[in-house]
Amino acid sequence: MKIYNKLLSHFGIQYWWPAETKYEVVIGAIITQNISWKNVEKALNNLKNEDLIDEKRILKINTEKLKELIKPAGFYNIKAERLKNITKYIVDNYKTTDELAKTEKDTNILRNELLNIKGVGKETADSILLYALDRKIFVVDAYTRRIFSRYGIINKDMDYDEIRLIFEDNIIPSLNIYKEYHALIVELGKNYCKKKNPLCNTCPLNLYCRKLFNKFY
Ligand code: SF4
Repeated sequence: MKIYNKLLSHFGIQYWWPAETKYEVVIGAIITQNISWKNVEKALNNLKNEDLIDEKRILKINTEKLKELIKPAGFYNIKAERLKNITKYIVDNYKTTDELAKTEKDTNILRNELLNIKGVGKETADSILLYALDRKIFVVDAYTRRIFSRYGIINKDMDYDEIRLIFEDNIIPSLNIYKEYHALIVELGKNYCKKKNPLCNTCPLNLYCRKLFNKFY
């Protein structure tokens, strides 16, 4: 928890995920794939302006119109299809995301259901589980891989679930901490632990990070 505490004291609470409803989290998780959050916000605003943060209305809307609205988030053909797919799964099985969140099904069962939807990978499924459905599951993204392999805790080629379990085995099993920790990792990745030229001299983790002691990184 040393790293978490350092990040928290540096960045403060992030209050993730930035969304007004559970279904908005689902939409955000789908359309944020491979794109910055700034562009996601533009797409979300387009949907909000058309009153489309609603499962039934997303299913009803013409796919071409949906593509147009989410265009700022990039890869709009595939993302529109994925959004329709996951929304159909929610409506067919639970009616709404709020009802889905109330199910007493085991987290692994829910995770498998999400992973069976075409276009939903582990990071997206876990983001939905954690931030929309309040399930304790740690989200691993590219920032997590980069930061913690440089730091010396993981190997960057490790399997997604191996990394996830390292976190789940070593941090306090609190929903809020899971939510905040991932958000703090994103902040560190965006602001300091950049892909090229990381800002190690001013990074809040620099006292302990292995990168500073290994020239080959
Ligand atoms: S010290 Fe450098 S490599 Fe290590 S976490 Fe910070 S920015 Fe990344």
